[in-house]
Amino acid sequence: MAEKSRIGVTGLAVMGANLARNMARRGFTVAVHNRTTAKTNQFIEDYGHEGAFTGAESLQDFVDALQVPRTIVVMVKAGKPVDAVIDELAPLLDQGDIIVDAGNSHFPDTDRRTAHCAELGLRFMGIGVSGGEEGALNGPSIMPGGDPAAYGEIADVLTAIAANIDGTPCCAHVGPGGAGHYVKMVHNGIEYADIQLIAEAYDLLAHVGGLSAPEIGTIFEQWNTGDLESFLIEITGIVLAKTDERTGGPLVDVITDQAEQKGTGRWTAIDALDLGVPLTGITEAVFARTLSALRDERRAASTTLAGPAPKPATDVDRLVEDVRQALYASKVVAYAQGFAQMRAASQANGWDLDLGAMARIWRGGCIIRAQFLNRITEAYESHPDLDNLLMVPYFTEAVGNAQDAWRRVVVTATEHGVAIPAFSSSLSYYDGYRRERGPANLIQGLRDYFGAHTYHRIDGDGAFHTRWSQDG
Ligand code: NAP
Repeated sequence: MAEKSRIGVTGLAVMGANLARNMARRGFTVAVHNRTTAKTNQFIEDYGHEGAFTGAESLQDFVDALQVPRTIVVMVKAGKPVDAVIDELAPLLDQGDIIVDAGNSHFPDTDRRTAHCAELGLRFMGIGVSGGEEGALNGPSIMPGGDPAAYGEIADVLTAIAANIDGTPCCAHVGPGGAGHYVKMVHNGIEYADIQLIAEAYDLLAHVGGLSAPEIGTIFEQWNTGDLESFLIEITGIVLAKTDERTGGPLVDVITDQAEQKGTGRWTAIDALDLGVPLTGITEAVFARTLSALRDERRAASTTLAGPAPKPATDVDRLVEDVRQALYASKVVAYAQGFAQMRAASQANGWDLDLGAMARIWRGGCIIRAQFLNRITEAYESHPDLDNLLMVPYFTEAVGNAQDAWRRVVVTATEHGVAIPAFSSSLSYYDGYRRERGPANLIQGLRDYFGAHTYHRIDGDGAFHTRWSQDG
C-alpha cells in the first residue's frame, strides 16, 4: 500500500497548486485533489516530478490518501464553494481531523465554519495567505487563526513553507476562530492604502511636476533605497519603466484608469465603521477605486466641471522630495490606523493579538512587505499596550519631520486640482488626532438642539439639555 501523505490540498487553481508544490519542495508528502479531475491530472503531469505527490480523482480517494489525523488545506474560490467543500468532506472525515481554509474568506464566515466543524467533531482553521501566486510557491506570509492545539499540529508545514526573514518564519499563530482571516483582511486593506498613496504620488509628479512615466519610475527606484523601501515601491519603479510593445510608449499610459477590487478593502472599511475606529486611509482608497470605476461620468464631468486656473511651473526637485515625505507620513498614518483597528478588534473579540508579531510576519512574502515593518514590531515590543503607532518616538519624529512637506503637497495638489484623497485625509487625521479640543462641542450642541440628545460639560459631570430657542 502506498505511503500516506502528510497533508492534502484540494483546489488546484494557481494558489492551491503553488502551495502544494511549495510543501512538496520542502519535503512533505502531499495528496492533491481538484473538483475537476482533469486539473489534478494536469498538475501531476506538470509537477509530479517535483516531489512526493499523490493525485486523487475522488474526494474519498483524497481522504484515504492522508495520514490520520488528517490535515486538509482547502484552496477553492472564497464564499459558497468553501461551504460546499466542507459539506462534501465532513462525512468522509474522522473526529479530530483538521480542515484548513487558506483562501480569502471573510472572518465572520470563518467563525461560523469553526463552530459548525466543532459540532461535527472536526477542527477548523482559517489561515490568511498573502503574496499572490509567487509567494504561494516560494514562501508566503501566513496568518493562521483557529484552535492553538490544531495549529501546533500543522505548524511544521506552515512555518516550513512560509517566507523567512533573518531566520524567522513569516508565520505565527494569530488567534482563535476568524482572527487569522481578520488580520489578512486588514493586511489587504493596508495594501489598498499603500497602493492608493503610490498612485497619488505618481499623479502629482506627472500632472504637477510634468514628469513622464519612466522618469517617475526612476524616482521610485531611488525611493526604494531609503525609508520607503518595500515591494510595492520596487514594483512601481518596474511598472512605470515598462514600454508598450504596440505603441512604443510607456505601458501605463495605455492602461485604462479603472481600478478593480475583490472586496477585502471594503470589508476592512465596513468593519472599521462597525468597530468605531477612524480608518480614513484605507476607506479613501476603496472610495478612490469606486470613483475610478465611474469612467463615463468622469468623462462627462471633465468637460463640464471647472478646475483651477493654470499655475506657474513648480520647482520639480522640491516637489519630488516633498511628495516622498508626504508619501512616507501618509503611509505611517495608514498603518497606524490599520493597527489601531486590529487592536480594537482584538479587544472586542478577546483575541489577544500580538500586534508586534503581526508586523513581523508581514516582513516577507506578502504584498506589503517593507523595511519599516521592523519599526512597528519594535514599537509594540517596547509598548505592548500602545493606543496608536504615532505615539512612539520613532513615528512621532518621522511624521513630525515630514509635516511641512506633507502640508505643502496637500496645498499644491489642491491648487492644481489634483485629487489626493489618501494624502489629504491622512493629514486631516493627523491634525484631528493631535488636537486636545476639536469642534465636536458644536456637533453636540446641534444634536441637543434638534433631538434633545443631551451633552456633557467640561466643568462637571452629568448629561445636560438646553432649550436653545424661545420656541424650541
Ligand atoms: P480561484 O480562482 O479563487 O478558485 C478556483 C478553484 O476553486 C478551482 O480549483 C475550482 O475548481 C475551485 N472551486 C470553485 N468552486 C468550487 C466548488 N463549488 N467546489 C469545489 N471546488 C470549487 O483560485 P485561486 O486564485 O487559486 O484562489 C484560491 C483562494 O486563494 C481564493 O480564496 C483567493 O481569494 C485566495 N487568494 C488568491 C490570491 C491570488 O493571488 N490569486 C492571493 C491570496 C489569496 P474547478 O477547477 O473544478 O473549477
